[in-house]
Amino acid sequence: MAFVTNDVSIGDSEPRELLFDKHVEYIANHGNDKNDYEYCMTEFLRMSGIYWGVTGLDLMGQLGRLNRDDIVDFIRKCHCPVSGGVAACEGHDPHILYTLSAVQILCIYDALDEVDTEAIARYVGSLQQLDGSFFGDKWGEVDTRFSFCAVAILSLINKMSVINLDKAVDFVMSCCNSDGGFGSKPNAESHAGLIYCCVGFLSITDQLHRLDCEKLAWWLCERQLPSGGLNGRPEKLPDVCYSWWVLASLTIMGRLHWISAEKLERFILSCQDGETGGFSDRTGNMPDIFHTLFGLGALSLLGDDRLRKVNPTFCMPQYVIDRCKVQPKTIVL
Ligand SMILES: [Zn+2]
Repeated sequence: MAFVTNDVSIGDSEPRELLFDKHVEYIANHGNDKNDYEYCMTEFLRMSGIYWGVTGLDLMGQLGRLNRDDIVDFIRKCHCPVSGGVAACEGHDPHILYTLSAVQILCIYDALDEVDTEAIARYVGSLQQLDGSFFGDKWGEVDTRFSFCAVAILSLINKMSVINLDKAVDFVMSCCNSDGGFGSKPNAESHAGLIYCCVGFLSITDQLHRLDCEKLAWWLCERQLPSGGLNGRPEKLPDVCYSWWVLASLTIMGRLHWISAEKLERFILSCQDGETGGFSDRTGNMPDIFHTLFGLGALSLLGDDRLRKVNPTFCMPQYVIDRCKVQPKTIVL
């Protein structure tokens, strides 16, 4: 059987330069029209949508384009006083994913003191299980993503002591596969998004020495396709969000130079929408706010000097991480 590669081709008409001003307008105007189809369809992840937009604008030095007070007010309304967790939007159940998004937004606005962080810490602590894993919410799904969310939240609010950290580390390491990668739970297939979560988890908890970096970095490098784009698993199409997850993991492991930065940059730039601004998942598709943040984040990791430096562990501007006095670890070769 012939070896078939799933990939895209990049034409000459695709953008080759960063469309900076168009992206500022794209994000600043996102969600302005409340009758907009996309706005209605994404209610269940509104809090994360705000994090993607706020972070993208801050990386471009344009945070002032959104109204800080309105956003902080919105977070307060989504903060459940009973559980201590934060919901995607008013009237929904809290979840650890949206609690992390809310904490990230508050850190960017230097507004952590506007919410009860003790309640947030209590919520995160209540989700830890006896084996060290974390539920995402009261419904009880377990996933290594939630382990990352837990330690990311607790380090940003400086309350790591509410969980059993040794057990949390043991659980994440029990999800490590023979290819060096990680899945969502023990014996689950390696996947770049979950590798990012587990490498980020080990970066926050100062346990990077537990990784088999040579093996894992090799697996991650194999995600780069002839177009320059990166996929999340063997035989999948390239996608801008995997550019972030793979590149951030390699950066944390000190091995960014193991892939072709030039080809990856060309792929990411080709995913920009030349008319509306914003990035899509791959060349020629419709842009969205999620891929816009991860496109900008990946370009920042690649050293684009029009963007602020991004922290690879938290996907937040480095100056915010410094101000929070959080020091996620990276490996220096
Ligand atoms: Zn994607």
